[in-house]
Amino acid sequence: MRKIEHLGLAVSDIEASISLFEKLLNTPCYKVEEVESEHVKTAFFKVGESKIELLQATDPSSAIGKFIAKRGQGIHHIAFDVENIEKEIERLKKLDFQLIHQTPKDGADNKKIAFLHPKSTDGMLIELCQEK
Ligand code: ZN
Repeated sequence: MRKIEHLGLAVSDIEASISLFEKLLNTPCYKVEEVESEHVKTAFFKVGESKIELLQATDPSSAIGKFIAKRGQGIHHIAFDVENIEKEIERLKKLDFQLIHQTPKDGADNKKIAFLHPKSTDGMLIELCQEK
């Protein structure tokens, strides 16, 4: 894994959080994108080499909707940039990590992504992502 690509933050009102993070980071949000398959609206900020991804549920029964209901707003996942996501998935499977996605899927911000199951990562939600 090459670097922390982004931190995913679950929020309940993405418009309010966009204006908060624009002030906090002193940089404009460069992309807002809805990922319909995940029922989520995302917004991205660049912070040096890394990014912040805000996530708001568009459906309360989605993963982000459930996370907010159970734990409130906060850090949802850490995403690592990888050179070859298929190889990384195979490497981690051999080490007995459980994958939520056995094969990469399309994510926001022009990425191929896969999530590890928090059961095998001490409760932390980890995302692998590779630029398309
Ligand atoms: Zn992410």
